Amino acid sequence: MNIGGHLSTKDGFSKLPENAHTLGLRTYQFFSKNQMQWKARPLDAGEAQAHREAAKKAGISDEAIHASYLLNLGSPEDAKWKMSYEAFVDEIRRADLLGVPLLIFHPGAHMGSGEENALKRISKAMNSAIEDTQGSKVRLTVENTAGQGSMVGYSIDHLSAIARNVDQKERIGFCIDTCHTYQAGYDINNDLGAFLSEFEDKVGIEMIKAVHLNDSKYEFNKHLDRHENLGKGKFSKEFYKNIFEEKRLSKVPAFLETPEGEEGYPKDLIFLRSLRIEL
Ligand SMILES: [Zn+2]
Ligand SMILES: [Zn+2]
Repeated sequence: MNIGGHLSTKDGFSKLPENAHTLGLRTYQFFSKNQMQWKARPLDAGEAQAHREAAKKAGISDEAIHASYLLNLGSPEDAKWKMSYEAFVDEIRRADLLGVPLLIFHPGAHMGSGEENALKRISKAMNSAIEDTQGSKVRLTVENTAGQGSMVGYSIDHLSAIARNVDQKERIGFCIDTCHTYQAGYDINNDLGAFLSEFEDKVGIEMIKAVHLNDSKYEFNKHLDRHENLGKGKFSKEFYKNIFEEKRLSKVPAFLETPEGEEGYPKDLIFLRSLRIEL
């Protein structure tokens, strides 16, 4: 896996490749706008171009944008859904302008309307967004969830339902968060292969376009989305060796989203290297 991390954009988008390199990361993920606000100031075309050029120069082509946490494409309320949809399309356009191939987003929550209903509204949003951004190279990449609250997308069956209901498969993908997967009840700490085989059967392994590499603060299957630094949570050393040796994930970028962010990534990398994992 190509190791990356979620980076802050405090130095501007064009500094991201260099900042990743300084931290010892090969790729990166970032927010293209404040993730806790609906409105964003339009992207500056010059700034976007500077990012595209910097990424190209650094030879990075698997970077990702993480969409706003406010989006709920599964919302049963039309007004909330529409607001989410518009912000989602804006995120796709920003990713395109920045030259970023992956837009990773949390699928959404049913808010009492039932999982099936939310899954339908999510695929509807994805189909419409693909239609509204024809010619875009951005892949709408659904992140699996820990199943907290009424969030959907915690089971492979949910992800499979989304994949089935979206027409243009070349515009979609999935991001597997290791902490979420474990919290959702897949014991990847003991059997990563079983999870991947089920994913392979029901969705397709080539649909995994990114991994979020996080340890889990809490024990198995609690539906608690609390990341921990690598080696400091519930995952064994064997788990890390297995995931880096896993051929089915060898071409996938793995973004760290551990609690201390950039301050903590050097520790995560030292831990991985202590297991003789080549990064
Ligand atoms: Zn994640
Ligand atoms: Zn998380």
